[in-house]
Amino acid sequence: MTKGSSLVEDYKESLADFMESPGEEQLEQAYQIGRRALQNGLSFGEIGELHFSARRDFVTDRQITLSTLHRSEEFFLEVTSVYDMALRGYRDTIARLQVEIEERRSVEQDLRAAAIGLTRQQELLEQRVKERTQELSLRTEALERANDELLRSNRELDDFAYIASHDLKEPLRATYNHARFLLEDYQDKLEDGGKKRLDRLIALSQRMEKLIADLLFFSRLGRGEDAREPLDTSAIINDISEVLGDTFQSRQARLSINGELPSIVGNKAHVTVVFQNLILNGIKYNDAEEKTIEIGFLPEVEYQAARLTDVFYVRDNGIGIEEKFKDQIFRIFKRLNSEKAYGEGTGAGLSFVKKIVESIGGKIWLDSEVGKGTTFFFTMREAT
Ligand code: ADP
Repeated sequence: MTKGSSLVEDYKESLADFMESPGEEQLEQAYQIGRRALQNGLSFGEIGELHFSARRDFVTDRQITLSTLHRSEEFFLEVTSVYDMALRGYRDTIARLQVEIEERRSVEQDLRAAAIGLTRQQELLEQRVKERTQELSLRTEALERANDELLRSNRELDDFAYIASHDLKEPLRATYNHARFLLEDYQDKLEDGGKKRLDRLIALSQRMEKLIADLLFFSRLGRGEDAREPLDTSAIINDISEVLGDTFQSRQARLSINGELPSIVGNKAHVTVVFQNLILNGIKYNDAEEKTIEIGFLPEVEYQAARLTDVFYVRDNGIGIEEKFKDQIFRIFKRLNSEKAYGEGTGAGLSFVKKIVESIGGKIWLDSEVGKGTTFFFTMREAT
């Protein structure tokens, strides 16, 4: 077989070689020709044609014997064995490809199912978020409405209390004056029983005057017209202790400030009301021989699972307050003790304190042990 010669010629030459002297080497040539034919893209039919034309040329001038025929067939089979092998390989490849395609298809199916599931879950989640957001905004709106309503009704209540107490003052003063005149002008004509009743009437109208004055003050606290400024709390407490100097002495009470107190932002008159009421109560509701009031400041305090800052406290060693009254004492005119036992009062002081603290966004609460003492805590923003 010569290099560059055509396949047809090579076939003829190789076939002739093999027919004349069949051997392994010649058979190898048949195999090589088969490979070339396959590479050149010859079909099985074309190989057949090539073979039969080569055999025809070979046998034209020769005597054909059965063994020559067999040899030519042997050559042909060797050539086509390449096709045979290729076909087998092709079949295996196809089978393998089919398996791979099947596998890929099932993976694709799984992936598609997972993607669909994921999209559905995402849609569900989005739906849930939308519902929850809607629900929350509805709740916020309802809360805001309730808050507005509460503010409005509180303002109305303050206005009502203000007008009512203001208007009640005049007729009450007149009742008081008439009782006084009666007592003075008709002294000789009245019996002891009558005099006693008039005395009681005067005392009651005086008490009512105090209650009305407190109500008026309480309602004014809600009007929010009070100027606020930076205040030195230690100075305010020093002023209070000067004003209450006699009370401290006569009741054997001592006031101390624990550490430094910060400056705050607030209304001076209101802050004075807060500290003064708490200090006075600490002395008033106190049986200890030596009554002590301690005032201090805590930058941070845990209260009802919240972290509160800027907390003042006023601690006494007084009679204490039972747990069940801890909220009630902040209600206006609520008193726990009789006048005889701990002196007079209208029961309004703590309601002033609470309203003032809350009007500037603060909180007030207390810790107490009956027989040991009480500590009132309240927040008031530190001046920055
Ligand atoms: P008032 O002192 O005029 O009665 P308050 O509003 O200041 O009014 O107090 C309400 C009630 O709470 C008091 O009558 C008293 O029974 C109770 N109270 C207030 N402060 C203390 C205290 N530090 N210790 C014990 N009881 C107190």
